[in-house]
Amino acid sequence: DLQPVRRALLSVSDKNGLVPFAHRLVRLGIELVSTGGTARALRKAGLTVRDVSELTGFPEILDGRVKTLHPAIHGGLLARRNVPDDLDQLQQHGIAPIDLVVVTLYPFEQAIAQKPEDEALAAENIDIGGPTLIRAAAKNFFFTAVVVDPSDYDAVAEELEKHEGHLTLATRRRLAQKAFARTAAYDRAIAAYLEDRLHPSPSEPLPSRLLIDLPRVQILRYGENPHQQAALYGQPERFFRQLHGKALSFNNLLDLSAALRLIDEFREADPTCAILKHTNPCGVATAETLAEAYARAFATDRRSPFGGIVVVNRPLDRDTAEAIDQVFTEVIIAPDFDEGVLAFLQKKANRRIIQQLRPVRETLDIRTAVGGLLVQEPDSALPPLEELRATWQVVTRRAPTEAEWRDLDFAWRVVKHVKSNAIVYVRNRATLGIGAGQMSRVDASEIAVLKGKREGHDFTGSVVASDAFFPFADGLLAAVESGARAVIQPGGSIRDKEVIQAADDHNVAMVFTGTRHFRH
Ligand code: 5GP
Repeated sequence: DLQPVRRALLSVSDKNGLVPFAHRLVRLGIELVSTGGTARALRKAGLTVRDVSELTGFPEILDGRVKTLHPAIHGGLLARRNVPDDLDQLQQHGIAPIDLVVVTLYPFEQAIAQKPEDEALAAENIDIGGPTLIRAAAKNFFFTAVVVDPSDYDAVAEELEKHEGHLTLATRRRLAQKAFARTAAYDRAIAAYLEDRLHPSPSEPLPSRLLIDLPRVQILRYGENPHQQAALYGQPERFFRQLHGKALSFNNLLDLSAALRLIDEFREADPTCAILKHTNPCGVATAETLAEAYARAFATDRRSPFGGIVVVNRPLDRDTAEAIDQVFTEVIIAPDFDEGVLAFLQKKANRRIIQQLRPVRETLDIRTAVGGLLVQEPDSALPPLEELRATWQVVTRRAPTEAEWRDLDFAWRVVKHVKSNAIVYVRNRATLGIGAGQMSRVDASEIAVLKGKREGHDFTGSVVASDAFFPFADGLLAAVESGARAVIQPGGSIRDKEVIQAADDHNVAMVFTGTRHFRH
């Protein structure tokens, strides 16, 4: 299944690595054929190149819009090397076979990223001949090879050197797969760009953002459980990068996503730390220092953090890293790491260390439904408290004190990231008890208190947040009985009056946000 490479057509916009690769081809006796700019670059490096126009007997026309779109080129690419009639026809028309195509496409993606408004520039950067070359060579992979990514130059040259100018079928097949993936992604980018131009109004952002490019990033070792196969799609490298540790698992990626979304709520906050397990926070705190925030987050519930994930909103310092190191932690996420901290954390070979690169608030929320996908805008991060206060409403006789406001704001940011039904008790910007994922709101509240009490917390003077309204006064009364003095919830129940009355009866301050944050 080895096929010889005697003639290569090089036509690249991204000229990185071109010259050394071309040198290696020439050393193997391979003839080079090139388009204008590529030929110039090669000649400048002292290489001998034939112009495409020499093969076609036709000049490049329309400013390069038509260079390689010619039967002399595509005949040379598409001829089946084992069909005598194909070879006869090549001879008859004086067409030289081309065995290898090396193309990097016009930089459409970069052009629109830099100047999205400039449609003429975008159109000029739509490559026509390049994808055609790529697809022709990829279609004929039984005989021909195609390289679309400079990072493949080394491996291809090595194989050619090893097999005296031949490539294996396995390599040609792999390159063909990558080639079609590249042209498909390229066309998706063009379609998405035009879709954006069709729906420029911000009231219609969803359809355009649905056309997101979803290349497969990685086949995962397994899915949620070891007997399930799984893969990751998308562009996670835009948001975080792994600096150390074993490859991220399916469940790590779920937890990490929950952690990144949660910490987005605390971007402007004082040092904040959250510990998560199975996508739910089991402790969150804001404090003067990160180390204190971690200690207080951990104190919420000392049982659950084992095997969990820790995220912070500041560069991770040595003190905090040492405290985290005491507990078996699967993943640690920080925007940065103080000097020496990474080296310290790397002592545990398997522990995954992640650097967050940017906020995640703009990413679409996509989940499966039977036979389809559910897509929604993200429940985007909350603005600062001053802004929120303008839309929130104090519904009780007593307004929250300043300390209560601060805690209500904190509790609201946390409860938003707890599975429904969710109840979160907070005092002094640290969670005291978190009730997650219960089918009854009262159960969520009881569990939050039960777990907090087990850790020895006293709930007196706490505030409580509920992700959706209390349907009856009972939930609120239970919270008050536990020691809560202020409540934050969306409001909107037909029994709101009863609930407000119950709060007033106990001189409890209550705030309605008007916004619900279910997380099913
Ligand atoms: P060069 O810098 O060699 O002049 O041009 C290289 C670029 O031209 C590559 O990105 C390649 O994909 C593209 N290309 C090759 N043939 C054609 C063609 O016939 N028409 C167009 N529009 N682009 C081509």
